Amino acid sequence: MTWSNWSGLEHATPSRVVAPASAEEIAAQVVAARAAGTTVKFTGTGHSFTGIASPGRGVQLLPIALTGITAVDREAMTVTAYAGMRLKDLNAALAGLGLSLHNMGDIAEQTLAGAVSTGTHGTGGVMAGLAAQLAGFTLVTGTGEILACSPDVNADVFDLARVGLGALGILVTVTFRVEPLFALEAVEEPMSWEEFHASFDDLAAGANHVDAYWFPHTDRLLTKRNSRLASLDEIEPLSRARAWFDDDFLQNTAFGALTAAANLAPGVIPRMNQMNASLLSARTYSDIAHRVFTTQRRVVFREMEYAVPRADGLAVLRECRRLLDRSDLRISFPVEIRVAPADDVALSTAYQRDSFYLAFHTHRAAEHRAYFALMEPVLRAAEGRPHWGKLHTLDSTALASSYPRFTDVLALRDRLDPDRVFANDYLRRVLGP
Ligand SMILES: Cc1cc2nc3c(=O)[nH]c(=O)nc-3n(C[C@H](O)[C@H](O)[C@H](O)COP(=O)(O)OP(=O)(O)OC[C@H]3O[C@@H](n4cnc5c(N)ncnc54)[C@H](O)[C@@H]3O)c2cc1C
Repeated sequence: MTWSNWSGLEHATPSRVVAPASAEEIAAQVVAARAAGTTVKFTGTGHSFTGIASPGRGVQLLPIALTGITAVDREAMTVTAYAGMRLKDLNAALAGLGLSLHNMGDIAEQTLAGAVSTGTHGTGGVMAGLAAQLAGFTLVTGTGEILACSPDVNADVFDLARVGLGALGILVTVTFRVEPLFALEAVEEPMSWEEFHASFDDLAAGANHVDAYWFPHTDRLLTKRNSRLASLDEIEPLSRARAWFDDDFLQNTAFGALTAAANLAPGVIPRMNQMNASLLSARTYSDIAHRVFTTQRRVVFREMEYAVPRADGLAVLRECRRLLDRSDLRISFPVEIRVAPADDVALSTAYQRDSFYLAFHTHRAAEHRAYFALMEPVLRAAEGRPHWGKLHTLDSTALASSYPRFTDVLALRDRLDPDRVFANDYLRRVLGP
């Protein structure tokens, strides 16, 4: 029985694999592992690029029996679900109830706990990160205690453990603040580098959610602006044929084949990126929110993403481009650009800081290390914070200087997991022993 992550970079052979169905079953596994001096790792769908979810040689807990909505509170506008539920299943269930999350990232394959625990975020809005949308959770600690946490109960744990990296306990349920189901209109528009730089602040101010993709070695970007519609009756989704052609065939099948072929002859990449960028056309469509926020990603890639201060973002992007242009690297995947408002989640990349995200990708068969190593010092020099689930090289010393409440989190870890039942190599690197 081996575990591996989506990108194929991480592998482990756990000693045992169990699918607990309740807080009590999870607590029993934790207590047993602690007594045996081994570790327990609750894994999601393995969509983190880092080894954050690796069970090592310890016990792996699967999310498959811990799914479904457990409570809907229409007065408080909150929904509670088991933490192993997939985001796409929650989205569908919420839509059936006439409800929606406020914001999300660009896929919905992840488990709720996995996405929340690594600080998964979308772009724009009032809260971009899923953890900032939490109203509470239930946690099994490293001593097997079951804690209900919210701003009113165990508030210190709620405060610090929303992005918990799987290091502070196992989430059993999560409670999200939700809102009535809403529709988004997406306007996708190719732009030149100059036009993008001149208009980015207006684009971000004029739409609820702005996303952009720069094609390396070109002057071209694709921008996507999502804005709320007044009514669900106004939606005009893409036809099935257009959605299949654009989102499935072009963005997955054709893009996957082209980028795989380009690995064999990297010299063609600049021309290929020019061609890909010139094939982009403007389009406008609308749909219920989660269908606009999320897409399918079938081409497997590697990714590093950093959040830098919002005000410095465009200058950092320009510096990244300058370095890439001077190098002999050839990069076939676009650089994704997003923004997020500051939040109050201690280990969120947007903690107390309006943020500008830069995400760098390579095809899974391409060499990502030299590219990421070239970009990472620029991002660090700009006080960048790396996404916990995406590739980076920082250790606990470097991260401590990035997060004002880092030592509070470490103290909570000592309290909730004194024997490091939840530890693995990644957590030892980013949090310390
Ligand atoms: C194609 C792709 C697209 C992505 N898009 C985005 C995006 O738009 N925005 C963004 O921010 N990120 C994005 N990510 C990153 C992704 O959202 C995170 O890495 C997320 O953690 C993956 O969730 P998962 O269920 O796969 O968790 P895993 O990777 O399996 O686990 C992540 C962490 O969560 C912990 N965990 C899992 N379950 C529990 C539990 N019950 N209790 C406590 N801890 C738990 C694990 O132990 C581990 O520490 C993307 C990743 C991929 C591969």
